[in-house]
Amino acid sequence: MKIIFIGPPGSGKGTQAKRLASRFAIPHISTGDMLREAIAEGTELGRQAAPIMASGALVSDDLMIGIINDRLAKADAQGGFILDGFPRTLVQAEKLDGIVGNGSDPLRVLQLLVPDDAIVRRISLRRTCAQCGAIYHLENDPPKTDSVCDRCGAAVIARPDDNEEAVRKRLEAFHRQTLPVATYYKTKRILREVDGIGPVDEVFERIEQSLA
Ligand code: AMP
Repeated sequence: MKIIFIGPPGSGKGTQAKRLASRFAIPHISTGDMLREAIAEGTELGRQAAPIMASGALVSDDLMIGIINDRLAKADAQGGFILDGFPRTLVQAEKLDGIVGNGSDPLRVLQLLVPDDAIVRRISLRRTCAQCGAIYHLENDPPKTDSVCDRCGAAVIARPDDNEEAVRKRLEAFHRQTLPVATYYKTKRILREVDGIGPVDEVFERIEQSLA
């Protein structure tokens, strides 16, 4: 299974992509998580990406394509993968075609549909583990102990780019730069659109059905 997840920020794609990865036992490759790790580790990549991410803008195509090229060359990605957050621009989508080629496993592209007003609400209640990246929702799925990750015990915080101004900019980037990617895959007839509104379990069922 080679799956690409497209969805606006806060659409639940990270949560759903993680589930799907464990269901199919394939790696969940989130470019956002990779960049956040680079920032936490203080690498050169992290240093370059941090201010761009905090503002809600997109990191350069060249940088992202390099990261994905290296990641998809690793042994664990040879049997399939779920891409969460890549490609986000048409240039990235075209480069990805060159990287994954025309293997026996065709790309399957899932687009989670969630309207903008629902997104702003969701993101204001989203919290993320600063260490392992586990995602919580203060109303629907809060950590058992306030602000402490159930899985690793680290602090659960609001992402720096989950503030109102950055969210507005991320939504704008999604509409202007990433929706054309969905159209690109629609033209290739490999896009599956899934309603992303509702409880996590229901959305996951819809995703499974769309892949069947
Ligand atoms: P995410 O965790 O997917 O919401 O990504 C968080 C931020 O990381 C985005 O707002 C971008 O600044 C950056 N980012 C992640 N993936 C990409 C990508 N494929 N291209 C450009 N920037 C990205």
